[in-house]
Amino acid sequence: MSDCLFCKIVSGEIPSGKVYEDDLCYAFKDIAPQAPTHFLVIPKAHIGSVAEVDGSNSAVVAHIFEVIARVTKELGVGSYRVVSNIGEQAGQSVPHLHFHVLAGRDMTWPPG
Ligand code: 5GP
Ligand code: ZN
Repeated sequence: MSDCLFCKIVSGEIPSGKVYEDDLCYAFKDIAPQAPTHFLVIPKAHIGSVAEVDGSNSAVVAHIFEVIARVTKELGVGSYRVVSNIGEQAGQSVPHLHFHVLAGRDMTWPPG
């Protein structure tokens, strides 16, 4: 999608701190980290949010979770939180599916 911030990050038009990349997904450091480790994992193909996941595109979501499991192990991160905000009230600010991976500090529950 031409006017999507994260599509521009995938294409390299907007620079980012790459954590991992393969044919299907891209992981990069959040520009405003909320924990000592905070990166985002996104599908390269544009999907608006979890609300747009269906049988035609859900394979990339399973793949992203495999990537999260692998990359966190490689980083030596054993406890972490995975978050995806859907819609304005839940705090989604970028309308391209992304999973936050946060680690390195005590987390509270329920989330704010
Ligand atoms: P959301 O608020 O949609 O759940 O998450 C979007 C995240 O993208 C936020 O945590 C925000 O800090 C991050 N973000 C927004 N713009 C940029 C950017 O240009 N580069 C990077 N690396 N992260 C960004
Ligand atoms: Zn996009």
